[in-house]
Amino acid sequence: MTDAAVASPETVRPVRGAAPADAPDSSAEAKKLSKEILAELTYSVGRTPAKASNRDWFVATALAVRDRIVDRWTLEHDPERPKPAKRVYYLSLEFLIGRLLFDALHNLGLTEETREALAGLGVDLDKVRTAEPDAALGNGGLGRLAACFMDSMASIGVPAFGYGIRYDHGLFRQGMRDGWQQEYPEDWLSFGNPWEFPHPEIDYPIGFGGYVEQVMQGPEPRHVWRPAETVEAVAFDTPVVGWRGKHVNTLRLWSARAPDPISLDAFNRGDYVGALADRVRIESISKVLYPSDETPAGQELRLRQEYFFTSASLQDLIHRHTAENGDVRSLADHVAIQLNDTHPSIAVPELMRILVDIHGVPWAEAWKITLATFSYTNHTLLPEALESWPVPLMERLLPRHMQIIYLINALELEAARERRPGDDDLLSTISLIDEQNGRRVRMGVLAFTGSHKVNGVSALHTELMKQTVFRDLHGLHPDRIVNKTNGITFRRWLAQANPGLTEVIKDAIGPEFLDDPKHLEKLVPLAGDAGLHEKITAARRRNKIALAKIIQERNEVYVDPDALFDVQIKRIHEYKRQLLNLLETVAIYNAMRAQPMRAWMPRVKIFAGKAAASYHTAKLIIKLANDIARTVNSDPTLRGLLKVAFLPNYNVSLAERIIPAADLSEQISTAGLEASGTGNMKLALNGALTIGTLDGANVEIKEHVGDDNIFIFGLTAQEVEARKRRGYDARAAVDASSTLRQVLDSIRGGVFSPDDPNRYRDFVDGLLAHDTFLVTADFDAYFAAQRQVYKKWRDRPTWMKSSVINTAKGGWFSSDRTIGEYAREIWDVVPDTA
Ligand SMILES: *Cc1c(COP(=O)(O)O)cnc(C)c1O
Repeated sequence: MTDAAVASPETVRPVRGAAPADAPDSSAEAKKLSKEILAELTYSVGRTPAKASNRDWFVATALAVRDRIVDRWTLEHDPERPKPAKRVYYLSLEFLIGRLLFDALHNLGLTEETREALAGLGVDLDKVRTAEPDAALGNGGLGRLAACFMDSMASIGVPAFGYGIRYDHGLFRQGMRDGWQQEYPEDWLSFGNPWEFPHPEIDYPIGFGGYVEQVMQGPEPRHVWRPAETVEAVAFDTPVVGWRGKHVNTLRLWSARAPDPISLDAFNRGDYVGALADRVRIESISKVLYPSDETPAGQELRLRQEYFFTSASLQDLIHRHTAENGDVRSLADHVAIQLNDTHPSIAVPELMRILVDIHGVPWAEAWKITLATFSYTNHTLLPEALESWPVPLMERLLPRHMQIIYLINALELEAARERRPGDDDLLSTISLIDEQNGRRVRMGVLAFTGSHKVNGVSALHTELMKQTVFRDLHGLHPDRIVNKTNGITFRRWLAQANPGLTEVIKDAIGPEFLDDPKHLEKLVPLAGDAGLHEKITAARRRNKIALAKIIQERNEVYVDPDALFDVQIKRIHEYKRQLLNLLETVAIYNAMRAQPMRAWMPRVKIFAGKAAASYHTAKLIIKLANDIARTVNSDPTLRGLLKVAFLPNYNVSLAERIIPAADLSEQISTAGLEASGTGNMKLALNGALTIGTLDGANVEIKEHVGDDNIFIFGLTAQEVEARKRRGYDARAAVDASSTLRQVLDSIRGGVFSPDDPNRYRDFVDGLLAHDTFLVTADFDAYFAAQRQVYKKWRDRPTWMKSSVINTAKGGWFSSDRTIGEYAREIWDVVPDTA
């Protein structure tokens, strides 16, 4: 059963020349699936087909599909089978997964068979698909990267575990009230989660607080941490099946459980709330995801979350390692641990504690093991986003770790002092303790110090890392920083999200690109082909009609599918500069009002993204977008030629609907501030042209697609630095640009907020006083680049040629490529691509 299920002949035939497929085979598969789905519906869900909702069908289908994954999974983890030489452990506080049904079906080659099976039962697979809630255990790019990496590790055969937290509530649901963002709790688990296996028997104690004791065992004193409080970490496993079902890895998420479910003393006294209080407090650790993005959460509960999942993961992997290999000292030969940002960097002192205090490994040897095992990915250079924790909090919560951090620091500073005598400035920048701001532990320095490799996520970001945050550490360890430009999984972001375009590509160049995206380059010689343009245009038009329908339903705005769809979808943040896009929108609006009868090009400005609940400016920008949308959309002088839509509740599933319908991709962050971006890659791959700054991976997209196929504008990272150093004067820039002056006047004066004319007065004044993200500095260049967009869009064959080249050159941005680089250059793991 397994072989047929794992790689159905239908999907394998064209590439691998496996057994030729014929219709009866695939429909036999559909019949089998149909029986299995019905059995699951009856015996696991407990429903009859007549009574079943789409949600019930989803659960039954997921369970039937899961069985086939599990067959592979158990085979791969069979104790009789040879162990992989080395495993990768990816520690991430966030996994922004989205829905899993089509991932599983696509990778198993069962999508069409399942469609047929359900159709036979009178059920529509597409409706079943949308009944699955998004697993939104992440904020944005960082969490989505972790999810793409899980898919790629399973696909290229890197034996791996992902470790994180099973939040009861993922990222909040965004609603709109009068154009203001409202946050509502997210409830993805309320109907159960058919993909996961709870393992209440896999649990580890996680300590907090208490004190450290020295006990004599032989000549050396040993440190024993006596925590005041213990939380249990319980495992929930989700199998992650890779492309063509060859490999299945595990995503293991930890849930917090109180050792004592109830205080019977309190209960018997009649104090029913008090009887549960401890349990509620302890289990709050895995209750909610912190919704901040690019800013540290800062609260004690967050530090508890970080230590909770890190400690559970280390205990678990060391348990596996010693069971398989006996000696903890050989850990680095068999284990590579990747720290996704600094959130798990408490792993460094935790591993030292386990090795030295528990296993009695001498300090120097333990440090070698630690360095050889860990590597760390930096995701941001924004100074306000660099994590640090107050020393008193660390001492109270993790007293032994604080001692270990002090000792690591003393040894590192001593080594640096020997190499650079007299350089006290150096010592203060490489110290694990920031003495300037009330004594804090710098988590970035801790992660850097404890890792053999530290990577940035795009070429530019890695270069800036060397020059800024880690300049001195880089000087001391010049081989440690490497670049690993981010990537995206093509299986989700092309094949599943855009089946129309995928079919057109298959017809044009064959299906090999599904196995190796480099084959997309075969499109290059066809880039000018009118027949291909026609097919791609037709496929995109269908996607645009589908998106127009969503905009109609959710925003009650009609948009013309033949207009240019100009898309900016990402977290709302000042550095991402949604404001710059809005200012241009107002500039077009003003121009159209001034000359209503000119032949204006139809355009739809589409926005989506969440703002951190406490980020007031970001929330005001959302309100501004909605105010502009209302004004523009209801102005009859525009004849519907300009529309603006802010789609609420941006998440992975909404991204999958917007991206295949986009013509223009807005990647307009202040240069030097977006570490990589991955939304830029998804949109380019699907044939949208990028308008963007030379920031993050935009630089590499430009190199791959060529200058003629991208709209680059604005200050470079170096120029941004220089401007800031000189002291930037926004007022002067605005005085020099009559368009911008007029735009800001209209917003400030209440043209878009007649109900509250002063709503944006302080905001605009603030921008003129401190334009931290240089919106006004880049406005004219951005406006001019947008005019180039218009020009090219009018010459549709040239536009389409650029679009095809964007898809053709997108292969390099596959996360399979990224993971291959991590495997070879950081983890020293050989992927099993056989
Ligand atoms: C890809 C993705 C992101 C990251 O987008 P950027 O434009 O790179 O910031 C954020 N959220 C979701 C839901 C995504 O799919």
